Amino acid sequence: MGSPLLEVRHLRVEFPTRRGTLVALDDVSFEIAPGEVLGVVGESGAGKSLTGSAIIGLLPPPGRIAAGEIRLEGRRIDGLSADEMRRLRGRHIGAVFQDPLTSLNPLYTVGRQLVETIRAHLPLNERAARERAIALLRDTGIPAPESRIDQYPHQFSGGMRQRVVIALALAAEPRLVIADEPTTALDVSVQAQIITLLKRVCREHGAAVMLVTHDMGVIAETCDRVAVMYAGRVAEIGPVRDVILRAAHPYTLGLMGSIPAMDTQRERLLQIDGAMPRLDAIPPGCAFHPRCPQALEHCRRERPELRPAGATEAACWLHAGAGGRP
Ligand code: SF4
Repeated sequence: MGSPLLEVRHLRVEFPTRRGTLVALDDVSFEIAPGEVLGVVGESGAGKSLTGSAIIGLLPPPGRIAAGEIRLEGRRIDGLSADEMRRLRGRHIGAVFQDPLTSLNPLYTVGRQLVETIRAHLPLNERAARERAIALLRDTGIPAPESRIDQYPHQFSGGMRQRVVIALALAAEPRLVIADEPTTALDVSVQAQIITLLKRVCREHGAAVMLVTHDMGVIAETCDRVAVMYAGRVAEIGPVRDVILRAAHPYTLGLMGSIPAMDTQRERLLQIDGAMPRLDAIPPGCAFHPRCPQALEHCRRERPELRPAGATEAACWLHAGAGGRP
């Protein structure tokens, strides 16, 4: 890939508590190319949403970045002041959260919110900003945008509100949109429409997408590459087709049980027994070993790092190769 749009290197996020420090993200590294759609998938507690929050500077307190770096177009963005981060969020990184009401102010019309966001970041007068807002609402499939722009968020259905949020995220032409479970709060009947819309409008506006979801089916239909997270680390990363058809990590294989088999030659896989460990009880060695049907003795003691495993990269001793262990 050429120069990455986003680079996350050895990111470590900690939560200091009275009983000690909890490590929520540990040595997380990945890149997103301009215009690419990267899926980040895993069970609840895997660290996928926290990764998105760390990038946009919205870690829940007392979380903090303890090590590593985050670069957007080559510029370090971890450690920016709250003001600098706010400007960056509006202008260069758009955000779409699970609940559209998190992003919308119920007291203002959607038009006012769009126009204010546009004018805060782009050199447009009121009239041009309103025209741009109407065009964005039209792009995101809001019918009769010329009149609906003057309505309040509560006058929109859940699916329509999420379309407004996507318009808001794209208002200042950001290079990256981080979408965290953007359809989880919506009716099943509109989920696919919103995902298709998100992908289309981001492509048309030249924005890359980091799509955080627990749903491997959404990843399969939407993403170019996927990072599978487990217990605060990347377990496997690679092109989505390779990860789905030739998953190298036993955890990824388990996640595949939740989507229909695309590869008819593969046997149906079982769901994974057990649960993601709590942050204060992450097992030593490979964190997945208590649930792993292929665990080796060595897996209990030493943590595997990401390394090439066929067409993907996996953090698993089964793919240590000749130079690795065991
Ligand atoms: Fe399973 Fe061992 Fe691979 Fe971990 S390192 S996923 S326990 S085989």
